[in-house]
Amino acid sequence: MSHTFSGGCSCGALRYESVAEPVVAGHCQCRHCQRASGAGHASIIGVHQDALTITGEVKYFDYTADSGNTASNGFCPNCGSNVLGKTSGMPGIMAIKVGSLDDPSWFKPGMTIFAASAQPWDLVDPDLPAFPGMPER
Ligand SMILES: [Zn+2]
Ligand SMILES: [Zn+2]
Repeated sequence: MSHTFSGGCSCGALRYESVAEPVVAGHCQCRHCQRASGAGHASIIGVHQDALTITGEVKYFDYTADSGNTASNGFCPNCGSNVLGKTSGMPGIMAIKVGSLDDPSWFKPGMTIFAASAQPWDLVDPDLPAFPGMPER
């Protein structure tokens, strides 16, 4: 994976830049990600918050995740792009929705989580380890 990377929302008002590589990468098939993305899953990388610089306004929507953790979606209040995310299950880590990357092509998913709520038409790489919920840590 590239060492530093950047990305942002559709309208360009919300931007981010990371100076570290992701510590986690995968697909999430939970119902919240399905609703927030409008698709069968969200593709997500996680980076340490202190490696990430965010510019522009982010609005966070807090919810109780299927794991019981408190999670939030971070989106651009202007264009509604779903760009960032946080969960109390991974303190200090900011999730980034892969579709918001300036170059999403280097993403290498390592797992599928919340596979228990996968939709029958949403096929991801069957060779990836799949966890029914959050992986045990
Ligand atoms: Zn925007
Ligand atoms: Zn999810």
